[in-house]
Amino acid sequence: MQHQLFIEQAYINGKFIRSDKTFEVINPSTGKAIGQLPDLTVADAKKAIIAADKAWKSWNSLPVGERCILVRKLYELILAHKEELARIMTLESGKPLTESLAEVDYGNSFVEWFSEEGKRMYGETIPALKSGIRLATIKQSVGVIAAITPWNFPLAMVTRKVAPALVAGCTVILKPASQTPFTALALARLTEEAGIPKGVFNVVTSKDSQGIGKELATNSLVRKISFTGSTRVGQSLMEYAASTIKRVSFELGGNAPFLVFDDADIDKAVSGAIAGKFRNSGQTCVAINRFYVQDKVYKTFADKLTSAVKSLKVGDGLKKGVQVGPLINQAGLEKVQQHVQDAIDKGATVQIGGKAIKGNFYEPTVLTDVNQGSLLAQEETFGPVCALFSFSTEEEAIHLANDTPFGLAAYFYSENIHRCHRIADALEAGMVGINTGMVSNASAPFGGIKQSGIGREGSKYGLEEYLEIKYLCYGEE
Ligand code: NAP
Repeated sequence: MQHQLFIEQAYINGKFIRSDKTFEVINPSTGKAIGQLPDLTVADAKKAIIAADKAWKSWNSLPVGERCILVRKLYELILAHKEELARIMTLESGKPLTESLAEVDYGNSFVEWFSEEGKRMYGETIPALKSGIRLATIKQSVGVIAAITPWNFPLAMVTRKVAPALVAGCTVILKPASQTPFTALALARLTEEAGIPKGVFNVVTSKDSQGIGKELATNSLVRKISFTGSTRVGQSLMEYAASTIKRVSFELGGNAPFLVFDDADIDKAVSGAIAGKFRNSGQTCVAINRFYVQDKVYKTFADKLTSAVKSLKVGDGLKKGVQVGPLINQAGLEKVQQHVQDAIDKGATVQIGGKAIKGNFYEPTVLTDVNQGSLLAQEETFGPVCALFSFSTEEEAIHLANDTPFGLAAYFYSENIHRCHRIADALEAGMVGINTGMVSNASAPFGGIKQSGIGREGSKYGLEEYLEIKYLCYGEE
């Protein structure tokens, strides 16, 4: 590929490196390889950790204003290379180019936000309760951090961690998903161009995610692990991190409910449903997985949603007008097929879609009368499928929405302000969309409760994840 930012090398200690052993990255739209990358080993990961540890001492001692200026430069470079980054992202993830362009903006909004927020790492003075002492706190960087990211947002999931870490004074070893590592390497090139010193940001590419993950989570030089991905992998990393009492941040899987009450604006609910369900072909952690619709408006909502889904254009993300791309791989496709078949076996009706197309593509689908015992209600489907369930009372809706071990995002539609307060309070989720199907925002805390995670990304809380509080007690004469 002819792109300045398309780099088929890993990035350790300020150098782009090759390896004899490589792995291919496949475009999920065509099934063809787009490039090869070094399949690095645990020994290489250790080198990256040592480089990050060495770089931490000087990076951490730079005045925060200087770190913020370098991160701001990175923001400007990402902006200047928006089209190129988006194209790389579409080639490796399959998402429509319009979505990739939007992800560059979204991912870069974290770089911009934290380049500003870094200046506000306030400590505090604390009133002493007796004479002879003065009390204060200061904030300091956690140290070397390891970041492991998923394939579904190849840029934003990286910048949400790396931007706050860098302004805080941390250095980073990133292990991107092996399905979408090229965007992270393009970012590495831009950090170099921005003047971020060697060793501060390292990208380890590898197919040995288990081995590298274990090393990052157990090595005592690494002070924190920040992971975005499945709950299953998060659990195993948390076990490893326990051996050195590392700090952890986890952004894990979801199973988002979307409640439509009989006092909702149905047209608005349908647009929110399309936005919250079909972005990235339903492969987002905050994707709506379960639609609970009150009896009185069930048919109207189902009909309007079906007709909106009918107009969605499916295809290769690089083609103009495409709104829904492929699933990331065959395993992703099989999971969607299994969930839909299971729902049909348990009595669901297919309103539209319900079949694979070709390759990794699946038809945008609406199923009605889905049984609460179906896989679609229990697990994250990660595909372009709307599963509609019905409910009668508010109490029942809350019970059904909360009946999951996950608690990332939840959404509801109602025009009644009192109901809005009640439902927002009752939903067990880290983020609640009220009359909207989109919640992500750099200035707001993103994260989950229950088995959806620990900690928050974005906002002032996202910076705290990379800071320690040091308490100072001054004795006075
Ligand atoms: P995944 O399989 O857990 O992989 C995520 C990352 O972990 C990848 O870099 C992967 O590397 C690595 N990995 C895989 N197995 C590992 C292991 N045993 N030890 C250490 N690292 C390992 O998740 P995914 O399929 O990429 O992403 C989808 C999941 O992420 C969904 O559950 C989604 O909800 C969740 N997610 C959550 C958020 C959030 O903010 N809460 C955001 C986006 C996605 P390889 O790719 O090389 O295997």
